[in-house]
Amino acid sequence: MIDPAVLPALHASHGGIWLREGGHTQGLAKGQAISRAAETPVLLLNAPLTGQRLGYPELNGLDLLELWAFLHPARFLVPTPKGLAAALGLPVPAAESDIPALLQSAAVAMLNRLAASDWAEHEGAWTAAQSLHRLRWAWSPLVAPRIPRPREAERWLFSKLPEWEEAQPRPAPRTVSLDESEVLARLDALTGVQAEPRPGQRAYAAAASAAFRPRAHRDQPNMLLAEAGTGIGKTLGYLAPASLWAGQAQGTVWVSTYTKALQRQLDRESLRLFPDPAMAARRVVVRKGRENYLCLLNLEDALQGGFSGRAAILAQLVARWAAFSKDGDMVGGDLPGWLPTLFRRNGSTALTDRRGECIYAGCPHYRKCFIERSARASADADIVIANHALVMINAARGRETGQRPQRIIFDEGHHLFDAADSTFSVALSGQEAIELRRWIMGPEGGSRGRRRGLAARLSDMASYDEEGGQAIRAAVDAAQALPADEWLKRVVAAEPFGPLEALFAAVRGTVYARAADAGEADAGYGLETELAEPDGALVEAAQEAALALDTLVKPLIRLARRLEAVIEDAPDWLDGPARARIEGAVASLGWRRDLIAAWLALLARIGGPADPDFVDWMTVDRVEGREYDIGIHRHWLDPTRPLAETVLKPAQGVIVTSATLKGGGEWDNAAARSGAVHLPHGADRFEAASPFDYPGRAEVLIVTDIKRGDIAALSGAYARLIEAAGGGTLGLFTAIRRLRAVHARIADRLARAGLPLYAQHVDPMDTGTLVDIFRDDPRASLLGTDALRDGVDVPGHSLRLVVMEGVPWSKPTVLHAARRLAGGGNAYDDRLIRARLAQAFGRLIRRAEDRGRFVILSAAMPSRLLTAFPPGTPVRRLTLDEAIIAVSSSPRDQSLGQPAALGHQGSESGLP
Ligand code: SF4
Repeated sequence: MIDPAVLPALHASHGGIWLREGGHTQGLAKGQAISRAAETPVLLLNAPLTGQRLGYPELNGLDLLELWAFLHPARFLVPTPKGLAAALGLPVPAAESDIPALLQSAAVAMLNRLAASDWAEHEGAWTAAQSLHRLRWAWSPLVAPRIPRPREAERWLFSKLPEWEEAQPRPAPRTVSLDESEVLARLDALTGVQAEPRPGQRAYAAAASAAFRPRAHRDQPNMLLAEAGTGIGKTLGYLAPASLWAGQAQGTVWVSTYTKALQRQLDRESLRLFPDPAMAARRVVVRKGRENYLCLLNLEDALQGGFSGRAAILAQLVARWAAFSKDGDMVGGDLPGWLPTLFRRNGSTALTDRRGECIYAGCPHYRKCFIERSARASADADIVIANHALVMINAARGRETGQRPQRIIFDEGHHLFDAADSTFSVALSGQEAIELRRWIMGPEGGSRGRRRGLAARLSDMASYDEEGGQAIRAAVDAAQALPADEWLKRVVAAEPFGPLEALFAAVRGTVYARAADAGEADAGYGLETELAEPDGALVEAAQEAALALDTLVKPLIRLARRLEAVIEDAPDWLDGPARARIEGAVASLGWRRDLIAAWLALLARIGGPADPDFVDWMTVDRVEGREYDIGIHRHWLDPTRPLAETVLKPAQGVIVTSATLKGGGEWDNAAARSGAVHLPHGADRFEAASPFDYPGRAEVLIVTDIKRGDIAALSGAYARLIEAAGGGTLGLFTAIRRLRAVHARIADRLARAGLPLYAQHVDPMDTGTLVDIFRDDPRASLLGTDALRDGVDVPGHSLRLVVMEGVPWSKPTVLHAARRLAGGGNAYDDRLIRARLAQAFGRLIRRAEDRGRFVILSAAMPSRLLTAFPPGTPVRRLTLDEAIIAVSSSPRDQSLGQPAALGHQGSESGLP
């Protein structure tokens, strides 16, 4: 058996490269490290990241993260040397040069666990190890001989997973009104007797209870807009009345979030509602879009030869995880976020049901399917934790599924506008159209996999019902007009095939002609232009494309009608599963019909009159000069109108809440961005200011001597500020290119000072993992863009400085220009920027004992935007040198926020 302690171990960071071999650790050059790793398998932690540090992305080796995923699937691990040491109970290395030795000890410790009798995840490991051996997994020679062969054959994953039970549909909830004293008693029970009194939270809970009253008017939910500053404790403030109502009325409350981080936090809070984990799992259910979950049929296909090479190894590790997962959620659930990136994302998306090809009851795993299980569990739950997009889709389609949300709490409510904007938008693009073609036609040419077209999914229907069979054949014929594989190449070469490809060629021509006039063509990223004054070629192409889509939609409508007729006739062969499958097909045909109808409306607009309710434009999507999609887009000028019609008006009670609901603006802004303005009686309002001592614990520094566009100066400022703070810095950018440029200039310098720097769009890791790493190491810093502005909840010392590269102005897109015009010009822009500043500032102080500084590297920060910050927060305008001195004193220096030296909001010192 190979002794892992003798294997060479490699560690590479921005600070250097170290190899341990034969009991000695030495620093070495990139070239030496690469050739050593090519000669012999080396132990390493996170091969893509190590490869990136070496400038050799294809680096392979014995990755300890893969071994962890095999050993403890579904167990959390921060994928850093420190995180690994903590998880295994090993000493945390004091210096980077000690890391290779840690990797060796960690390999020994993990391999020893394979034979341990108390290894919790041993079931299925022997069988998986045999399969991985056949796939030549690098760890196999070390892993397989150490796992004792089980006496009996192990149960395969698909027989091991539990089946969900079919349950009676839940009756409508009872009509009840909550008693305020009971709500407050429930709140006390949730917070615990020891908790300090929080008057803001009690007032919040009382206000939230009103949303659960019986509804008084048609088309008017009991609606509350509630702004509760950070630290009020709004989560338990709304869970108290929500859980009380759910119990008394026997109904379901949907709690909707925008970020996965809050979803996870809410899931943890559910244990306060139901301390028994089994009960909590039944009463509180996390629900996500189906594309998040593992599809067992896709997994089975991957395990049986559908995947090859590294993707097949990933499939084996995912199968190990599926057997221990809480809910089969692959994105933000208990599958480590870093696992798919170890495989360069090769294969992980093909394991979910992204393309809507589910065959429902026709699937052999239907009764064990994670997606079906979560949908069923949510029908009977007290609290369903979902996201804004899913709540909106369920509200829109809820009549069909019987799961229309009726009582909804939108937490992170300041994102409701954006979520509605994307949910109710339409895009006719090459990527969207080819997806439709695949859904109808199935695999073409040499493509592999289990994907089936419409004809194969409904073959029994085609043989039973002649008219239905004809409709399927007509749809497959008509789908030939949609773009096929390699469509983009043909379009770029001006050799489009079929009317849709011809349309995209015309769109591309117009975009390049007009966007180039605007001087944007060289930027290498997305290009767009308004859909106005189309030329003759575009109008003609749109008409041809519309004809083709019209020919396609007709047989789909006919087919849906035939399927409905079959359900009504109920022939002998239509047993329960067959019925469920046909109902599923009717629903998904309906969604495609709606999609094509929306495309047709969009095409009718080309050459026709503009609709003032919509903003239409055309795009060529590019990354670093490489095109990847072409399309026409339509967004509502005000997306809260469809939000009000489809989600708010049919609901009984709605709470929209956030720490920054007004976005540093006025209540009118909150009412407009939540859709309350479109309700006959508007919404009630509640406000509770944060109890935190912002004047004493936070400070805003506006650095006035960094010239705009000077990357060298910007990079130097970031490096010096991070050094002054000793790490713990969140750096926020509005452009990926600048983020990358700054990171490239400063990462090595900071690493040499023992200050690791991570970055979104640079490090090959998902955002959730980057935030986990940042949280775990107080000396680490993280650079990122929009998603980090308010998706990061890092309380304590790990986040003590936020640095924004400048004022977060909006990008001058067609959509933004239209909304700006309709929304009051500068005032509209100011509201958006204040909201972004308020969200970014909100990252800094998460608990009463936190303290920190917020730096904006821009002299152009207008004073009128400073109302974005909490009242009384000191604001100073100063030079970078002065800012460095200020930051060096934070946060250990208790004098942060000395009033004598600092001005205050609205009268800040150092004003030019
Ligand atoms: S029921 Fe659908 S989603 Fe579930 S495993 Fe089967 S094909 Fe996949």
